This record gives sequence, C-alpha cells and structure tokens, in this order.
Amino acid sequence: AMPTSGDASGALPHPHVVLLPSAGMGHLVPFSRLAVSLSSPGHGCGVSVATVLPTVSSAESAHLDALFGACPAVRRLDFHLAPFDASEFPGADPFFLRFEAMRRSAPLLGPLLAGAGALALVTDIALASVVIPVARDLRLPCYVLFTASAAMLSLCVHFPAYLDANAGGPVGDVGIPGVYRVPKASIPQALHHPEHLFTQQFVANGRELAKADGLLVNSFDAFEPEAIAALRNGSVAAGFPPVFSVGPLAPVSFSASEPPENQADYMRWLEAQPARSVVYVSFGSRKAISKDQLRELAVGLEASGHRFLWVVKSTVVDRDDEAELSELLGEGFLERVQGRGRALVTKAWVEQGEVLKHPAIGMFVSHCGWNSLTEAFASGVPVLAWPRFADQRVNAGIVARRGAGVWVERWSWEGDDGVVKGEEIAEKVKSVMADEMLRRSSTVVREAAMTAVAGGGTSYRSLAELVARCCD
Ligand code: UDP
Ligand code: UDP
Repeated sequence: AMPTSGDASGALPHPHVVLLPSAGMGHLVPFSRLAVSLSSPGHGCGVSVATVLPTVSSAESAHLDALFGACPAVRRLDFHLAPFDASEFPGADPFFLRFEAMRRSAPLLGPLLAGAGALALVTDIALASVVIPVARDLRLPCYVLFTASAAMLSLCVHFPAYLDANAGGPVGDVGIPGVYRVPKASIPQALHHPEHLFTQQFVANGRELAKADGLLVNSFDAFEPEAIAALRNGSVAAGFPPVFSVGPLAPVSFSASEPPENQADYMRWLEAQPARSVVYVSFGSRKAISKDQLRELAVGLEASGHRFLWVVKSTVVDRDDEAELSELLGEGFLERVQGRGRALVTKAWVEQGEVLKHPAIGMFVSHCGWNSLTEAFASGVPVLAWPRFADQRVNAGIVARRGAGVWVERWSWEGDDGVVKGEEIAEKVKSVMADEMLRRSSTVVREAAMTAVAGGGTSYRSLAELVARCCD
C-alpha cells in the first residue's frame, strides 16, 4: 500500500506503528534507529515512540530530546507507569527494575494503544511476554525487536526448553539446535541463577516469542547465517514466526547539521589525528569497571604508545557519577597523556556512531554490547573484544568467528577474580593495531554490512517486507 502523508491537522501518515522500547541506551538506541528508518521517505510509516519519563539515565533523556527535536515525524506517546515498589528486589540493577515496572504496567498499555490508533506495535524483547497478550486482546499485530544478536535470540528461544530438559540441574554448555553450542562460560551470568530477576524475565519472554507476529533483529543474513537460518527453518523452535533481519540499523546523526565550530571537543580532537592512529576505548553505557581494572587499563593504554580516545564510566547509572577522573586513573596520568594531545579521556557521552566512522579511528577496545559491535562492523573498525557481562561473550564469539576482531578469552568477566595487567593490555593493543589481515577482514565485514542495508539488500528488503505487512 502507498503511504499517505499527514494532513494539515497533524494526523500521522499511515501505517502508524507504535514502538515500545524498554530501559537503557542499549535498548533505546536501536529503537530510535528503527523509528528514523521506518519514518524515512523510503518506508513512509508514521511512528510513535512510547516513552516512560523520567528515564533511568540522563543519557536516555538527552537522546529522546534529540530524537524528538530532530525528527518531527517521530511522535512521543507518554506511557505512565503504575506505582512500583522496588524494595521487593533489594540491590537489583536499576535498568532491570525499570523493565519490571514496565512489565507490571502492561495492562495500562491497552487503553494507550487503542487511543493511539496504531496499526502495529513493535515491542522490546525485555517486555515481550507481557505485551504480546495485550496486543492480542486489541487484535493489534505485535512484533518484537530483539536488541541483541541473532545467536542470542536463538538462545533466548531455546533456553526455556533447555531448562525443562535439564530438570533443575546446573546450567552447562547449551547446544542450540541448528545453530551452535554456547559454552557454559559464555552463558550470561544471571542465567546460572533461576531466581534472578533477569532470568525470570528472559525465560518468560523466550516462552512467549513464538506468539509474536514476527521478530526483528539488528543483524544481517551474511553475518549470522547459522542463527538466522535456524530460526527461520524451524530448527530452533518449530513454527517460529518470521524473522526480519534489518541490521545494522544506521546511527542517527543529530549533530550533522551543526557548523564545525559547534562540534564536540572529541570530534575536533579526532580531526587533528592521523588516519587509523587512534584506539577508541569504551565499555558501554551500562556497567562500571572496578577501580583496579580502570587503573590497569590506564597503564596499558599509556604503555601501548598509541593515541587513544577513552570514554570512562565508573557507575552503573550516569547520574550517580561524581568521581573525578584524576582520582580514578592515578596520579599524573591525565597530565601525561593529555598534556601533549596524545589522548582524550572523558566521562561525557560521545556520539559513538560518529566516532567509529571517523577515519582517525584504528581500532575499538569494546565490551561487546551488541549495538557497539554493529557500529564497529558498519565502520570496518577492528575490535579488541573484552566482554564483561550479559550476552557479551556470545557477541565476542561472533566477532572472532567473522574476522571482525580478536577476543582474548581468558580476560576477566564480571564475577571472575583477577585483573588484567597493563602490560598485557598494551601488548594486545599493539598487536591489533599492527594486524593488516584483521584490518582487511574488518573491511570485508563493512562491505557486507553496506550491501545488506543498501536498496535491494537483505536487510533493506526485510524492513520493506515488515512495512508491507503492517499495511495489510
Ligand atoms: N554509546 C554512545 N556513547 C557513549 C556510550 C555509549 O553513543 O559514550 C552508545 C553506543 O554507541 C551504543 C549504545 O550507546 O549504541 C550502547 O549499547 P551497547 O549495546 O553497545 O551496550 P550497553 O551500553 O547496552 O552495554
Ligand atoms: N535480553 C533478552 N531477553 C530479555 C531481556 C534482555 O534476550 O528478557 C537480551 C537483551 O537484548 C540484551 C541481553 O539479553 O542484549 C542482556 O540484557 P540487558 O538488558 O541486561 O543488556 P543491555 O542491553 O542493557 O546491556
């Protein structure tokens, strides 16, 4: 069907799709990319993003302001949560608590969605099991955006069956039918604990996914052929709904129209660096690194002799971060590395999608959050994988398998003892920076990613097919 444009009264163009992200930048980022993509002239959808205010982190709040400011075609739909008593989960991660608060408020979505006049809903994986039944009652087609890799999606789908067969025994290696075996050491930490809030949500979501109208995944056919094929051909679960592999979703540039003098300091600093000379270091938006490990990382980056741009995060929620960088990183470090302009160390948010596209970047030391990786693949930047938590070891395995980077498997994982020493970090950084083969294979990954999202490519066609279904 042809989209019709909005009329003068401001009605949304058709088809109108409501997107419902959960909490944390790792979830908001792919949803805002999807929103921009769906509302682009090529796909022509009206899009609303259901939004819970206030957000958990200030990064989310700033991102939403930028999205709605820059993209008037994307509307905000306020989702007011029911009162929620977090004291039931002492010490729980604030993002998981927000997932839970949203899950318990799912009945309130009925009236909200009915009033919005949506033709389809795309919900977040973290909310899937409670939102799918609400959408079914409204007879609203419900799609789920899985915000991690297709391999992780296959694990999410298979894991309930694994637990049932395992009859309460400890979680070991998990062989995913038609995909591959995920070793015990790569299973997200929480999944070893059945009572963990994340595990309960993960299992409930995994059980319900087969009832969705389709799954969207921010990956592409050529990159994760095993998992995508196995999900589509019923090997992972019989009768599984269609899988739309739509990645890598393109970063949205909110600052592209800014004149050069308004550019952020890190972009101006990057402009002054030679091609492929800078090591970019970030462990994502979500987790702190221990003070001891931060110190060793500082030693390692300094000893590598390379230029670097390092985004330091020392708390789970950015609003809590008051520590001084100089105190975190050790006496004299900042003066030594920043003094002569060799490095830039910041606690501020950087537009990572833009950073990774910059020609000065030579490699990426990454915690392997899936969004970060998709940005690295799309930019052809080799990754030194240092997974810490959640799905990140599964992701690091994909990086290594596809020649998009290297993974030192024995490096610490949250919950392990031990700190990786600065000398070892320095050696690895030097070897990745010097690795021409890796640079070439990372370029091959970028070319495959660009082919997938270009007109006629697998990811482009997947998204077009989803839009066509939403019009029916
Ligand atoms: N990000 C960013 N600037 C930062 C830190 C993170 O733009 O200073 C973005 C990053 O590019 C990615 C998202 O935030 O798109 C983080 O998601 P990811 O899945 O990589 O990791 P998480 O933060 O959820 O662990
Ligand atoms: N996830 C999942 N099922 C769920 C909730 C999350 O499969 O019920 C995925 C999610 O997409 C993420 C990974 O598992 O990539 C870890 O979840 P979390 O939200 O902790 O990670 P984040 O993206 O915030 O780093």
